[in-house]
Amino acid sequence: MTDFRLTDEQRAIKETARKFAEKELAPTAAQRDEEEVFDREIFSKIARMGFAGLLLPACRGEGGISYTNFVIIEEELARCCCASAVCLFPHMVIQTCIYRWGTREHKDKYLEGLGNGALLGAFAMTEPHAGSDVASLRTRALREGDTYVLNGTKCFCTNGGEADLYLVMAKTDPHGGHKGISAFLVEKGTKGFSFGKKEKKMGIRSNPTRELIFEDCRIPAAQLLGREGEGFKIAMISMDEARLFSAATSVGLGQATLEHAINYSKERVQFGQAIANFQGLQFMMAEMAADLEAARLLTWYAADLMDREDKLATRYTAMAKFFASDMAMRITTQGVQIFGGYGYMRDYPMERYMRDAKIGQIFDGTNEIQKIVVARSLLR
Ligand SMILES: Cc1cc2nc3c(=O)[nH]c(=O)nc-3n(C[C@H](O)[C@H](O)[C@H](O)COP(=O)(O)OP(=O)(O)OC[C@H]3O[C@@H](n4cnc5c(N)ncnc54)[C@H](O)[C@@H]3O)c2cc1C
Repeated sequence: MTDFRLTDEQRAIKETARKFAEKELAPTAAQRDEEEVFDREIFSKIARMGFAGLLLPACRGEGGISYTNFVIIEEELARCCCASAVCLFPHMVIQTCIYRWGTREHKDKYLEGLGNGALLGAFAMTEPHAGSDVASLRTRALREGDTYVLNGTKCFCTNGGEADLYLVMAKTDPHGGHKGISAFLVEKGTKGFSFGKKEKKMGIRSNPTRELIFEDCRIPAAQLLGREGEGFKIAMISMDEARLFSAATSVGLGQATLEHAINYSKERVQFGQAIANFQGLQFMMAEMAADLEAARLLTWYAADLMDREDKLATRYTAMAKFFASDMAMRITTQGVQIFGGYGYMRDYPMERYMRDAKIGQIFDGTNEIQKIVVARSLLR
């Protein structure tokens, strides 16, 4: 994508994703948000479209969805329902992790089901006392013969309770700092693994965010992903993906906001004319459009670097994440303003867009943490 334009194939993917999202996600997005319900059938439909399968760097030529194509799909899903797009973040990440670090048995057991939507994935790192400071996590995995015994609590797990397979970060060496963290594949239904509080959230309310509780949860040692002590490395590489997906959903939200703002401004009449005629609002929409396009191009560029496995991918996914989520927060706020009092009401989608935009600045590493990542990359 060196000429800043989508290829014919990418335009077709975008169109297909847009038609699908407008038909299957948009009509129920507000209601699912209001009722805070996760609709598994929507995820299954997304998977049946081929949108939830293995992501691979296109340059390896091994099939799978390229990062760039997935970003295009995520933008279209988020344009119609941000919560449905967010559901895919950990689901895609867990597949890449299994592909990169899993044994033949892990791949045979899980990849097909995750790819076709029979299984839903989740990623559990955050704990009540360990958010940005990942290395301080306390969940313990103790080796006993050919098993590990997990004890601890994870919080804020996207898809928590609904997912079938969890990538869980736990300490195998409690004194080893980040080098003491290991990654485990834990199946829903495993004895000693239960679900705690389901969060009541500001936005993306039809995506479940839940606490996970491990109490003497015994899993086969073969469920270790990678080697002992590799969990932090796995998590950090996964973060490049998650940040990119987050940027793409922010762009999708921004696109939805701008379209609604333009349409409304042409219809709403005050002082005997459409409010679109007022230069104050025209300037606002011009700024929104420029902000959105800048975020979109940065996101595409970051996706392209991921596809090329370029060493600058970490810097650019972090920049895309914080820039695009800040953009979404700015322009959804402007969108509400253009709708006036109606923007504040639940009868219109603007207030939902604004609520949904906020999470982009927080999860998958807060924007402050992203800036630390970028600064480290610039200054090293
Ligand atoms: C809806 C939702 C879904 C989530 N899904 C998942 C999931 O699926 N899996 C998962 O593992 N986690 C998930 N998270 C957790 C998320 O990644 C964390 O909330 C996030 O990383 C921040 O951690 P924290 O909330 O503990 O905030 P803290 O780390 O306590 O941060 C509080 C404030 O301090 C700032 N801060 C912290 N350290 C620094 C620093 N060094 N320099 C400057 N500022 C700093 C932060 O930017 C923030 O503003 C989710 C969170 C939410 C809200």
